[in-house]
Amino acid sequence: MTTIPNKLLELKIHQQELSNCSRCENMIQPVITGNTVDASIMTVGQAPGIHEGRIGKPFGWTAGKTLFKWFASIGVEEDEFRQQVYMAAVCRCFPGKNPKGSGDRVPDKQEIATCKSWIEEEYKILQPKLIIPIGKLAISQYLPHKKLSDVVGQQFVIDTPLLQADCIPLPHPSGLSTWFNMEPGKTLLQDALGLIDSHKAWSLIKDQQQDKQAQ
Ligand code: SF4
Repeated sequence: MTTIPNKLLELKIHQQELSNCSRCENMIQPVITGNTVDASIMTVGQAPGIHEGRIGKPFGWTAGKTLFKWFASIGVEEDEFRQQVYMAAVCRCFPGKNPKGSGDRVPDKQEIATCKSWIEEEYKILQPKLIIPIGKLAISQYLPHKKLSDVVGQQFVIDTPLLQADCIPLPHPSGLSTWFNMEPGKTLLQDALGLIDSHKAWSLIKDQQQDKQAQ
């Protein structure tokens, strides 16, 4: 009989509880979680989009295609990424469409605060070594900044009672954003991917992928 390591069991129970969450009345379920993986890298997105509920995984639609192209450019394909990296978000439910314009509604302060306890529990269980916040809202949970160019392309250290990890922010890969296709965003994105590629936690994932491919 295969036994599940304690950490994974704890994470599985956590994700089951999270899946039943309905604390925010304006959020649209289902709750979207990443795979149950004992990961040392955690990505943090903003919130799922309209298609992720049907697909049942974070970054499962067009923005995800761009995001996984970025990660493939530094050596890790989508399947391996999803098996090795824990994919979290500031809010885990679809906020609905932006009533005043294009794109999705940005979660409000109350929703962000309400959902925070879930990710805090994940820090405790996984104790990640590298956090990759994706997009302005996710980045601002860790690094106060005015513009993306203040922080993308740099590595930071987070040292709080709950979380001690390196932090390398990425822009949001949404098709609505042009930031990463124009300078200085284009160069800063490459700088950020270079930093992730040089991180020890990323090297371990690449090694595991190579071992699997060699088998
Ligand atoms: S956004 Fe977070 S706190 Fe709000 S209902 Fe969804 S899982 Fe629960």
